[in-house]
Amino acid sequence: MRIDLHTHSVASDGTDTPAALVRAAAAAGLDVVAITDHDTASGWGEAEEAAQSVGIELVRGMEISTRHEGVGVHLLAYLPDPGHPALDEALSKILAGRNSRVPAMLERLRGLGVAIEASDVRRVAPGTAATGRPHVADALVDLGVVADRTEAFRRFLNPGRPAYVDRYAASLLETMDVVAQAGGVCVIAHPWGRHGPHEPDEATLAELTEAGLAGIEVDHQDHDAHDRERLRAIAGNLGLLVTGSSDYHGTGKRDHDLGCNTTAPEQYARLLDLASAAAQRSGRAVPGVVRP
Ligand code: AMP
Ligand code: ZN
Ligand code: FE
Ligand code: FE
Repeated sequence: MRIDLHTHSVASDGTDTPAALVRAAAAAGLDVVAITDHDTASGWGEAEEAAQSVGIELVRGMEISTRHEGVGVHLLAYLPDPGHPALDEALSKILAGRNSRVPAMLERLRGLGVAIEASDVRRVAPGTAATGRPHVADALVDLGVVADRTEAFRRFLNPGRPAYVDRYAASLLETMDVVAQAGGVCVIAHPWGRHGPHEPDEATLAELTEAGLAGIEVDHQDHDAHDRERLRAIAGNLGLLVTGSSDYHGTGKRDHDLGCNTTAPEQYARLLDLASAAAQRSGRAVPGVVRP
């Protein structure tokens, strides 16, 4: 069984439509794929139809932009009811923060002499519910200012670069609570990604486990072999489940091919057990796994 639990479509900042993503996952030999767009479930419907037609197991999820003690944390929420009012409200706030930040980034770029308008971003991001820096990067590519997303981030969009603008992120603990109410399961994406300091550390992860965290994504391209071993040991100490995934973004992110990291079948089975329990506790009609 090959299981990839973290991928993006054009519903956020990937480059494949949800249907194309699911077909690509099947073509890559995966048995299970999760669609986890940033801050939105808007790709789920199309992905579900495609999964049924190509015969792959689909886990519906999302990657929510949160913050904990000043550190940005991407929270993977699996199988929550996206129609739960508190979850819907939390996501709406994040999406509003994403949208309001784009004009500020464009203003900075114009200040640097780049002629770029909101319409340039809309043109390259027709399917997204979660506009972000990758779309501004795509507009810069389209305008011939940079060669690719990587150059756009390096020159303009990374923190510390001149067009970077921060955006609203939800509180991690509050979001975990909302996801639980909505019957979903919480896993922290690439906890030590982005080459920053090793935060959240074990003590923080222990607190988060007390607060209902189910697992951490250990096998991710942002983690080197040493960090993977340390994170695996922490997960063992805390009883957290361990996932592995590609964080595929289509052609939008290099070195994140579908299935480049995978989740062990027994860890996936644990995740599904926790999802059933969470669904039962929530009393919500949660989306199940789509089985071929
Ligand atoms: P945002 O959520 O709008 O702040 O944008 C963050 C997204 O940009 C994340 O999904 C990353 O995958 C993506 N990203 C960050 N750095 C790069 C890069 N150098 N090249 C392509 N995508 C990137
Ligand atoms: Zn992304
Ligand atoms: Fe992420
Ligand atoms: Fe991601």
